[in-house]
Amino acid sequence: MPRPIEALIHHDALVHNLAQARSRALGARVWAVVKANAYGHGIERVYEALRGADGFALLDLAEASALRQLGWRGPVLLLEGCFEPRDLELCSRLNLWHTVHQDAQIDWLGRHKTQQPHRVFLKLNSGMNRLGFAPCAFRAAWTRLNALPQVDEISLMTHFSDADGAGGVAAQLATFERATEGLSGERCLANSAAVLRHAQAAAADWVRPGIMVYGSAPDHPQHTAAHWGVRPTMTLRAQVIALQQLAPGDTVGYGNTFSAAQPMRIGVVACGYADGYPRHAGSGTPVLVDGMRTRTVGRVSMDMITVDLTALPQAGLGSEVTLWGQGPQGTVLPIDEVAASAQTVAYELMCALAPRVPVRIA
Ligand SMILES: *Cc1c(COP(=O)(O)O)cnc(C)c1O
Repeated sequence: MPRPIEALIHHDALVHNLAQARSRALGARVWAVVKANAYGHGIERVYEALRGADGFALLDLAEASALRQLGWRGPVLLLEGCFEPRDLELCSRLNLWHTVHQDAQIDWLGRHKTQQPHRVFLKLNSGMNRLGFAPCAFRAAWTRLNALPQVDEISLMTHFSDADGAGGVAAQLATFERATEGLSGERCLANSAAVLRHAQAAAADWVRPGIMVYGSAPDHPQHTAAHWGVRPTMTLRAQVIALQQLAPGDTVGYGNTFSAAQPMRIGVVACGYADGYPRHAGSGTPVLVDGMRTRTVGRVSMDMITVDLTALPQAGLGSEVTLWGQGPQGTVLPIDEVAASAQTVAYELMCALAPRVPVRIA
């Protein structure tokens, strides 16, 4: 028998979450963001479920090729644009739309030979200070692009730094309005948090939801995935492969970090950090055993974690353990809760699912 661990990708949940994004997008067209191999789900595994999107946004050229190979003929947007002039050849060949966020990319376009002019998304740095033209340089970039025979339509894009937090989007929106005033072109602003929390403000021609499509709340713990009406799209589950009985004072795992205060029954689970379970998830991280909620005890090791079965006498060898996602009988363990216990975000857990874990579409 193979080691009892697997990940499930939930087709219906992806379809549902995409529909949620669309219903909140106020008529905007929806980019399904599938960067990082669809947030660790696998582009080829989410493709059927997300075909209802108006386009796919990502940043790796190999992933863009994979989408074309899967048969997608609709829009594909490279969120970071080209990394070198040669990339433009692939854009021409595969009809990829690409972000232009710095002058070098305009230089490359100006020297590129193409039959088919390119659709580009010109990016404004409205305060994130990662990618994009400064507001004072934006108009000049637009004018330069607009003069190039290699360029077809120019769309206008920016990215919010705190749509999920207290800062909100107002200041960046005002910067965007000012910098783009009078420029023609479709607008594309909102990530998941903006779609969910600031839809009226960030209303535009396109939205770019990622994490909500994968069933996580971008503003957890202020809101939960259930609050936003999205469902887990990835389940990580394993089984109990051994049992231990602890006497008071006994410890569990490396570093003896957990010590039993009373007699305890412990289940050893076939999942560790080499599977993508976060090593920083401390004692007390929630897990489901046969759909019932309990907690981890002690440190996460490479191949195992240990969980408290004291209050679950019916659980034993072979019991199903849900590390995150959908458990038996409609139970759910939100990935956001596990991420919070490990001082990280669901994005990171999804992306870190290890290659050694077998994955099935469910
Ligand atoms: C990743 C990304 C998104 C999606 O963000 P979520 O928080 O996952 O919704 C949108 N736009 C850009 C430019 C991105 O890089």
